[in-house]
Amino acid sequence: MHIGFLGLGNMGSPMASNLLKAGHQLSVFDLSNTAVAELEQKGAQGCASVAALIASAPDVVISMLPAAPHVKGVYLGEDGLIAQLTKPTYLIDCSTIDPHSAREVAQAATAAGHRMLDAPVSGGTAGAQAATLTFMVGGEAEDLQHIRPILQAMGKNVTHCGASGNGQVAKVANNMLLGISMIGVAEAMALGVSLGMDAKTLAGIINTSSGRCWSSEINNPYPDVLDNTPASRGYSGGFGSDLMLKDLGLATEAARLAKQPVMMGAAAQQLYQAFSLQGNGHLDFSAIIKLYLKE
Ligand code: NAD
Repeated sequence: MHIGFLGLGNMGSPMASNLLKAGHQLSVFDLSNTAVAELEQKGAQGCASVAALIASAPDVVISMLPAAPHVKGVYLGEDGLIAQLTKPTYLIDCSTIDPHSAREVAQAATAAGHRMLDAPVSGGTAGAQAATLTFMVGGEAEDLQHIRPILQAMGKNVTHCGASGNGQVAKVANNMLLGISMIGVAEAMALGVSLGMDAKTLAGIINTSSGRCWSSEINNPYPDVLDNTPASRGYSGGFGSDLMLKDLGLATEAARLAKQPVMMGAAAQQLYQAFSLQGNGHLDFSAIIKLYLKE
């Protein structure tokens, strides 16, 4: 299959590499020439613009862009993919954006005769490199059936979440819970230690008791409780606090539009906002525990 790939950043670059490994023909574009050159070296056809990628006539286009304005900028408008693609094309947006924007772009794509799916991912850069991402897909089931092998070349789990935009709904709901649970674990760990518990012992109790969750068991925020976690290497690597802030913003904005209360999500969003203001946006999101610890 001839695939056009837009957005070769931390996630897009390894995802595109895995499509090449699976034997697909690939045309790629990114604003960064270096990112394009790296993929060219692996066998992709580099394109100098969105227009050049369109001219290569791909059967499928995948995008992995930072946020909704980038996605709208690439897909919509007179020069956008939707207007300029000369044949009906499968469009797959893997960026994390708000469900409302995803539905708006998909509607425009459908009106122009294309088939569009939102397919945000979970699994981080490690999952992108290892081709073990989870894809949460919104759109027509038969369209997913058609492009499923492509997603399977980049990931392990591919789940149909329902109609257009529902992939983004699943993503924002999961990540809102993740942000809330991380703050909960940070608060509980800090409380226990301040009241005299050993941090490792407390984490062991939580992880064999009802407080157990991914944030306590896999990415415990307390320093040196687990090996190979961001907390045990100065909160470097992992999932940046600013990315968590972005996802909490998507969740609270989607909730506002739906008039759906998200009391804990809103509190989590404000805590990450304050944390980012203090210059911590680049640290793994488990570093939020710094709000609870003495220097
Ligand atoms: P990134 O900033 O590393 O990469 C984005 C890339 O898009 C950059 O290379 C940029 O040059 C390119 N780009 C921007 N505008 C463009 C345009 N108009 N045309 C072509 N290329 C353009 O971001 P990332 O970490 O790869 O994340 C991408 C998306 O995946 C985001 O929506 C993010 O929320 C989501 N996500 C990230 C992670 C993670 O761990 N990094 C995990 C899950 C989901």
